[in-house]
Amino acid sequence: KPIVAIVGRPNVGKSTLFNQIGKKRVSIVEDIPGVTRDRIYLDAEWLNTEFTMIDTGGIELETTDHILTSMRHQANLAIEEADVVVFVVDAKTGMTAADEEVAHILRTSKKPILLAVNKVDSPNKENEIYEFYNLGLGDPIPISASNALNLGDLLDQVVENFPKDAVDEKEADEISIAVIGRPNVGKSSLVNALLGQERVIVSNIPGTTRDAIDTHFVKDDTKFILIDTAGMRRKAKIDLPIERYSVMRSLRAVDRSDVVLMVINADEGITEQDKKIAGYAHEAGKGIVIVVNKWDLVEKDDKTSLRFTEDLRDEIGFMQYAPVLYTSALTKQRVHRVTDLVKYVAEQQAMRIQTSVLNQVITDATAINPPPSHKGKRLKIYFTTQADIKPPTFIFFVNEPEIMHFSYLRFLENKLRESFGFEGTPLKLIVRGRK
Ligand code: GDP
Repeated sequence: KPIVAIVGRPNVGKSTLFNQIGKKRVSIVEDIPGVTRDRIYLDAEWLNTEFTMIDTGGIELETTDHILTSMRHQANLAIEEADVVVFVVDAKTGMTAADEEVAHILRTSKKPILLAVNKVDSPNKENEIYEFYNLGLGDPIPISASNALNLGDLLDQVVENFPKDAVDEKEADEISIAVIGRPNVGKSSLVNALLGQERVIVSNIPGTTRDAIDTHFVKDDTKFILIDTAGMRRKAKIDLPIERYSVMRSLRAVDRSDVVLMVINADEGITEQDKKIAGYAHEAGKGIVIVVNKWDLVEKDDKTSLRFTEDLRDEIGFMQYAPVLYTSALTKQRVHRVTDLVKYVAEQQAMRIQTSVLNQVITDATAINPPPSHKGKRLKIYFTTQADIKPPTFIFFVNEPEIMHFSYLRFLENKLRESFGFEGTPLKLIVRGRK
């Protein structure tokens, strides 16, 4: 999916714009209750084209009081990683020095930049946008984010500017893996250890083949792709300066993956950035495996991994379903288990439950723990069906959808997991009314 970055000073209306475009999202699958949605990323669709929007202001790692510094960061992030940059300025305050500075950075990039002048809600809009021609970013597009004016024009131009070149196509039976995690946790080492195993046959080597960024390999007759591994594989040979944790690059890899390998290291645990990306993977319905690397550096007794797993589960909240593997890329301990676990999770994601079996489980569950009631009316679940896989999606047909409570949905989810497994994969639960 193409990535659209929204850049701009605080208070120009980035979040409002963000949320307005999000409203246009057509979603048949309701969010799983209890999952906090991070509003920094948003999947949107316009003219049948899906894309991911990012508020670059929100993914700043270091907090800095200085507007200019943080704006420069934003702009550079956006230029590096996004396919289209929307630069938002404010018609009410007019052009500022910070705007000019950012425009200067954006102008020197080769990425398509769209200049949106927000808060133009009066009919004599022309006057308010003229001064922004001075930014040298082409025709300013007048919009009003809060009144949803002209957003269609803006989105038309966003979509027109998406790159046409398609990424490396995957074969139907390949399992694609996104390896994510902050720099220095051992992603490259792990990838190289993985590919260096006996019985692993690598069919291409990114970095030697022009344009190849993914690594295709086969292990025990199962085909895998490691997404966006060009940098990782080269890194083993050349000492590169420490890279930033590139959120956008990670998101793009997650979008293209079946299963996300989240690599963390044993002494740091899971970071905020990791959690954000994991949340994104969860919402996108991707499978997830947590790899705790550098396990050789940890002093252990027989309960260490158990305790570590417990702490981790407290940390990650919603992602209780993710299996955890303890590895050392250095000693190769358990590296051979990575692909088995990925394959297992991919199978769990694609599992279909027979309708009769499914309904029996739900009937039994409601007998143990009756559904909630509201104003004297009790929720009745008439029928449950699995509508989809990857992620497994269940529709509950009920008398009154409003009576369903998120805690009860969570109970049902737990029952489904107890009965069928679904390890490593998020589930989508949809509640529909039926007369
Ligand atoms: P990346 O930035 O996540 O790709 O991390 P690298 O693979 O470049 O590894 C960062 C550093 O950690 C390097 O010095 C590696 O040699 C070291 N390293 C990676 N995996 C392990 C491990 O399992 N154990 C130990 N002790 N060191 C590791």
